[in-house]
Amino acid sequence: MHKEFLMGNAAIARGAIAAGLNVVSGYPGTPSTEVLETAAKYNASADKKNLYVEWSVNEKAALELSAGAAYCGARSMVTMKQVGLNVASDPLMSLAYIGVKGGMVILVADDPGPISSQTEQDTRTFAMYSKLPCFDPSSVQEAYDMIQTAFEYSEKYHTPVIFRPTTRVCHGYASIDVKDEDEYNLNKPEGFVRDPSKWVIFPRLSFQAHTNIEKRNTELSKVFSGSGLDPVINPSDSKIAVASHGINYAYTMEALAALDKTLPVLKVGTPFPFPEEQAAEFLKGREKVLCIEELDPVIERALIYVCGKYGLDTRICGKLSGHIPAAGENTVASVTNALADFMGLELPASAVHEPPPPLPVRPPVLCAGCPHRASFFAVKTAMQGKKSVFCGDIGCYTLGNAMPLDMVDTCLCMGAGVNIAQGINHVEPDTNCFAFVGDSTFFASAITGAVNAVYNQADMTLVILDNSTTAMTGHQPHPGTGRTMMGEIVSKINIEEVLHGVGVKTVETVDPLDLKAAVDCVKRVSAEKGVKAIIFKSPCAVLVKGGKPSHIDKDKCRNCKRCVNLLGCPGIVMKDGRPAIENSLCTGCGLCAQVCPFDAIGGADNAD
Ligand code: SF4
Ligand code: SF4
Repeated sequence: MHKEFLMGNAAIARGAIAAGLNVVSGYPGTPSTEVLETAAKYNASADKKNLYVEWSVNEKAALELSAGAAYCGARSMVTMKQVGLNVASDPLMSLAYIGVKGGMVILVADDPGPISSQTEQDTRTFAMYSKLPCFDPSSVQEAYDMIQTAFEYSEKYHTPVIFRPTTRVCHGYASIDVKDEDEYNLNKPEGFVRDPSKWVIFPRLSFQAHTNIEKRNTELSKVFSGSGLDPVINPSDSKIAVASHGINYAYTMEALAALDKTLPVLKVGTPFPFPEEQAAEFLKGREKVLCIEELDPVIERALIYVCGKYGLDTRICGKLSGHIPAAGENTVASVTNALADFMGLELPASAVHEPPPPLPVRPPVLCAGCPHRASFFAVKTAMQGKKSVFCGDIGCYTLGNAMPLDMVDTCLCMGAGVNIAQGINHVEPDTNCFAFVGDSTFFASAITGAVNAVYNQADMTLVILDNSTTAMTGHQPHPGTGRTMMGEIVSKINIEEVLHGVGVKTVETVDPLDLKAAVDCVKRVSAEKGVKAIIFKSPCAVLVKGGKPSHIDKDKCRNCKRCVNLLGCPGIVMKDGRPAIENSLCTGCGLCAQVCPFDAIGGADNAD
């Protein structure tokens, strides 16, 4: 063993590799992304390529790929964020019945807050729904250790297991003990053994599988109770106690220290199957227990159930009783307040956390020089005065909803915009229906929407915002980029050809930073009937940073503020009541020069 300073997500990847990981697939999404990227970096540095690493087109594909590997006896892992599990839920629910041969971990990172997600869903609840064992680490070290344990349970019980850290564990850093490479488990997969009675899902087999799963989970609840994965910290006869999990356990210990109190704490590391016997033992003789948790009241409900089942009269408090906020992230301060209130204590001065001074409001905006700004502006200009609806999607370009662009009327989930536009079109045939989707999201889940639109005779304009990367999650490759996570250079899948292939007759590609050409293209294409597509192709500003900044000629500028009010580019700032270009931000995209009616902006590589 030796020490390393690692991010939680890196520790998870390294723990999985130490456990003998053979295959890892995933789809990027905060806060999970760095797990797979760490595995890819290890692969490159080890120069052995004995680990297969893949960013798949979406979470469903990724989960199915890892399942196939585990059918062969490989140790596999699939990574995603919590909303990604919704995409992967179809194979997940069936795989729970089919099971695996090699150990398979489904890593799903949850996002309390939420900080960067559409929903605040709790994967512990998904684990219960899918009847899959779930592991919930509370620290970077525990994440490293626990994922190795998760593989062991998966293999022993022939079931995929869910591993669900939350943002603060994923993105926290710590100096932890890690294994030396010669201590790694080297797993040699046996290969696929044909057995249709095992690998083919059928209603008759599913009935038996369901029965077996319920038996297994009852057994696992007992096993977890004695496993040490759900320890009692500070055991004592105290009449009051705490139950917690994940990062909330760390908050609890810090809060107790701030209050100068010691209480017994049940740390739940396996929220499903819940360690009932361990919990019942913990509750015996207690008057009340506070459940400190984030997202759903999983532990609180489980303890209420245990009280009923074991005839215990402990009062269980938490989210359902109003002691802990129903939604959002907890903090050390909020947990300290909740604990003090629960124990009837005055907050000592040392535990009073002054709220931080208010920060200036900084709404998220598209980057300076982002080509999506030009794309939205071109469509807005072309459709001025025409009845239109603009359906957005998931990606950086959701920020096109911000003023002054104001170009996202709907946003639901990955790939939804193209279908929502069709639904609106069928009710409002006189509305010009647009669907904006990024290149990565197009491959992930909008292709089926395009097929649906063509086949069912929709009348809409599909706008692909092609910046040749998966920008929002950190520039991961996708089928349009021509490289894989194994370092191979491969043929790009051409979006234009895909659209023609599924029957979209008109597909035009245009550079959105050539504003006149872009506006003309939108007017021309959107006037056609049926499904038509525009591909706005221009690389992400972050990938091509370094262009010569623009400048405003003070003699020509009439201070009309058109450049400010139309585009909202953060590269244009106000100085002494007049617009000026901030050199440190401007990428020289030249868009503002094209909206200035007085030819006052120039100097950029693309201006004039
Ligand atoms: S050229 Fe204008 S629009 Fe483009 S980044 Fe610079 S300030 Fe922004
Ligand atoms: S659009 Fe041109 S004239 Fe108007 S404020 Fe901007 S730089 Fe000045």
